[in-house]
Amino acid sequence: MSMLRVEDLRVYYSTPVGYVKAVDGVSFEVKEGEVFGVAGESGCGKSTLVHSLILRKPPMKHMGGKALFKGRDLMQLSREEARKIQYTELSIIPQYAMNALNPTKKIKDIVWDLAREHGYTDREEVEKLLRERLAMVKLSPKVADMYPVELSGGMRQRATMVVSTLLNPDLLIADEVTSALDVTTQRVVIELLHYFMEEGIVKSIIFVTHDLALLKQIADTVMVMYAGKVVEIGPMEEVINDPAHPYTQMLLNSLPRMGVHYKRQKLHGISGYPISLLNPPKGCRFYTRCPYAMDVCPEKEPKFVRVGEDHYAACHMLGGE
Ligand code: SF4
Ligand code: MG
Repeated sequence: MSMLRVEDLRVYYSTPVGYVKAVDGVSFEVKEGEVFGVAGESGCGKSTLVHSLILRKPPMKHMGGKALFKGRDLMQLSREEARKIQYTELSIIPQYAMNALNPTKKIKDIVWDLAREHGYTDREEVEKLLRERLAMVKLSPKVADMYPVELSGGMRQRATMVVSTLLNPDLLIADEVTSALDVTTQRVVIELLHYFMEEGIVKSIIFVTHDLALLKQIADTVMVMYAGKVVEIGPMEEVINDPAHPYTQMLLNSLPRMGVHYKRQKLHGISGYPISLLNPPKGCRFYTRCPYAMDVCPEKEPKFVRVGEDHYAACHMLGGE
């Protein structure tokens, strides 16, 4: 069953020198029960994409396309309607989750404000739920009475995850939630997200990261973005084992290999700079960095080609027309 269907979505930033085409014709579907990974380097549009689903404010501008969430187009919701579904149907754990909680309020007050805004009237019931959830993420019930600054980074991260999921959102969006964490805490976060799914607290997750190795541990499907466009999408295992797009191949080559001493590894960084999103070429946006670029590449936009079951990539080398 479809949880979210995004069709030809375009979200730009309005600037004095023109539009920055941060998300430019993106389509995908997130199914109920799946963890959907969005990968790419910083600036590829992945954060803009997920934030545009609910927290759209100037200079971010919806320029076209749809985002059908449980049948309703998120792009057409009023601010009031969007606020109503946030936390209860669709929730975001923000990129800087550790600093996302209001520092002047105790955790239980932050949670109560939020619950009240969504129609909850029984404070005791909400606090009981909070303590249950804190226990689930292995935090002491005392955390409810603490201020965010009294918690360590890892604890604050978990508290933020509890707050974001307290009202059982169907779709949880995690935007680079692990990037500021050490490897052990990263693993805890991944385990928690798995747990939220297993317990039915959330039904689907969109997990945004620049880290493909991490994504491998959690995602069922992966969508790779480059310069505002999708370049490849498919089942996680298949994309990792058999990447079709040169950019995905390079992203994977830039990962350290397991079990090989780091001194013996040659890491292939991706050289060159992405093109400007103010004035992108009409063809493939990766051509300035692609080792296989041909004459046709900057001129003509590559179409998606099916390279496997539910696996697609957009590159002229793959044929198409
Ligand atoms: Fe490289 Fe051309 Fe394929 Fe783009 S379309 S990834 S430039 S070969
Ligand atoms: Mg980002």
